[in-house]
Amino acid sequence: MNETREIYRNFPFLMQIAFYVIAFATIGFFVYGFYLRIRKYKKGRDAGRMNNVLGRFMKAAAIMGKNSTVFKRDAYAGAAHWMIFWGFVFLLIGTAIVALDHDFLRLLGYHLLEGDFYLVFSFVLDIFGVLFLIGLLMMMFRRAKKLPKLDYTRNDLKPEQYNRKGYSTDDKIFLWLLFLIGLTGFFIEGLRISADNMPAFEMWSPVGWVIASSINSVGLAESANSLHVYSWWFHAVMVMFFIAYIPYSKAMHMLVDYANLMFKDDMAAKKLPKVAEEMLDAGMGYKKVEDFTWKELLDFDSCTKCGRCHDVCPARNAGTALSPRDLILDLRTYVDSSIGSPEWFKQEFVNGKNDSKEIAGGVISKDVLWSCTTCMACVEVCPVGIEHLTSIVNLRRSLVDEGNMEDMLQDTLMNIGDYGNSFGQSERNRAAWTKELDFKIKDVRKEEAEYLWFVGDYASYDQRIQGLSRHVAKILNKIGVDYGIMYEGEKNSGNDVRRVGEEGLYEMLVEDNLAVMQKSKFKKIFSTDPHSYNTIKNEYPEFGGDFEIEHYTGLLLRLVKEGKIKFTKKLNYKVTYHDPCYLGRYNGEVDAPRELLTMMGIELIDMPRCKENSFCCGAGGGRIWMDDSKVQERPSEIRIREALTLGEEVTHFVVACPKDYAMFTDAVKTSGNEGKMEVKDIIQLVEEAMGE
Ligand code: SF4
Ligand code: SF4
Repeated sequence: MNETREIYRNFPFLMQIAFYVIAFATIGFFVYGFYLRIRKYKKGRDAGRMNNVLGRFMKAAAIMGKNSTVFKRDAYAGAAHWMIFWGFVFLLIGTAIVALDHDFLRLLGYHLLEGDFYLVFSFVLDIFGVLFLIGLLMMMFRRAKKLPKLDYTRNDLKPEQYNRKGYSTDDKIFLWLLFLIGLTGFFIEGLRISADNMPAFEMWSPVGWVIASSINSVGLAESANSLHVYSWWFHAVMVMFFIAYIPYSKAMHMLVDYANLMFKDDMAAKKLPKVAEEMLDAGMGYKKVEDFTWKELLDFDSCTKCGRCHDVCPARNAGTALSPRDLILDLRTYVDSSIGSPEWFKQEFVNGKNDSKEIAGGVISKDVLWSCTTCMACVEVCPVGIEHLTSIVNLRRSLVDEGNMEDMLQDTLMNIGDYGNSFGQSERNRAAWTKELDFKIKDVRKEEAEYLWFVGDYASYDQRIQGLSRHVAKILNKIGVDYGIMYEGEKNSGNDVRRVGEEGLYEMLVEDNLAVMQKSKFKKIFSTDPHSYNTIKNEYPEFGGDFEIEHYTGLLLRLVKEGKIKFTKKLNYKVTYHDPCYLGRYNGEVDAPRELLTMMGIELIDMPRCKENSFCCGAGGGRIWMDDSKVQERPSEIRIREALTLGEEVTHFVVACPKDYAMFTDAVKTSGNEGKMEVKDIIQLVEEAMGE
């Protein structure tokens, strides 16, 4: 017997024609929806992402193939998605092979689907069909568990002010449609095998074979022929509906997410874009839909509402109005209502939120925008490459342009503009902390040094932290490191000024710092401030400041390894270490501080959220210059609670950022945990281990 199967088995010719007519109409509907999407993205500004398209394509293919971004920190969702993804891909390829064989090769006298090829084809498709169904069942089970991150409730509106039933309906249709398509596919196979009197080679379709045997055992073999035709049509109609549904629903993520990952900027958030030339006349920041780039419009459509960013966001955890997921979905809703979209399942507002003429401060409230700590956790965790922070900062720029910010922030920005520091103190006092030292730190503006130490505002002016700066200075001096500072020539690095949205002031600060740096004599930079480290490393090069820079933990580790720093005392502490967002997440530096601690004999016990998944202290993005008295619980207090879950034996909470030191020493007190855990900068432990 020839191992193959008949396509359109028992179908009269007219029925076959009817199928092709429906199929072409469906494809037309799909193409139109797809065209509407492209038309929408074309309204956006250029995003400058068209370089290395092939490389980008291959990179996205590797991510999609492994489902690596979905697996990250959620193995269950990753496994389920992997099975659905590969099941879908194989079933799609299988369907394409059937179409190629029947509609093209057959007309040329060839037949692909026969013999051994057919047997292997049948077997492989059955296996991947099963994986597809298992993955879908796992996803359904996950939704049934009502995970908080999959809950569409908003923080910022009352339930009667919005309606998100469309989102839930779309989720259900998507999962159930795929599940029924997969299931009926197996039933068609079983009915066909039964109607063909169980040819032995069809055992290569194990699932179909089992279903066929069951059909025979319940006495339905006689009806298998007619049941096959009905179920075939049922399956075909669902497939057609699914194809038509793709560009108008959540299913579109199968296409846009690939593109979004492909065009994602690996430097997103770490290096913010300058204000585009063409927008300068209308002021800084986004004011209309056309101000968004096409990548941002693609971002808004790519969100699958997985809730990962919603879950990790410190601002949302602190009970503020911000949820990065809702921000992206609100922008999607706004763009769709402004320039049209094929989306069938939208959220609706009953309070006119979306009718606002303003985007920043209207569609997206200023409470939402000012709540962001720019910790980048949302960008890092998003499995589909959405760059929330670019949009947030561009909308903040618009608020700053209108002076739409709280007084405290406005005063701080004015201080930075007038004095070059956020404390509003005289520039001449910047190096006042060095006066208590019994040696003079080099002035790199006048003397040559190997390292320029970029100290930063907090380590220079905040009295709680000046002592830590002196510790660093003394150790480096003791072991003979050749370093200097810029004294009053240093200004606020601008990292947080830029993230507040004050781009003009940022550029001024960069210009001033670079003018001094470029005249100074040094080979490399180190900084004790992760915020300054980030902008000097990632953003200054665009302004002509291309320097080698490292964080002081990296420098200290190297000095230990070179034998210049000697630990003479073993520290028998159990500690936990808090990764600063701008060091760990932004710049991937998570090992040096840990290695340093271990070399001191310390036992390091990480908190559940650590390294790239660290939980922000709440100070970044200018939040330290804003009133936080209205939050339910400060992110720094949440973090201290997290550290305390490690047990009483963990006595120290180690930090490597001046702002963290300030935030967490406060949080230990305000959360009522004084005496339970001591906040230490890593330099204090280094000094102790050196026997100082
Ligand atoms: S950057 Fe941080 S605070 Fe801002 S939206 Fe993202 S997760 Fe939330
Ligand atoms: S923005 Fe990204 S992480 Fe957040 S809900 Fe959407 S897809 Fe998930």
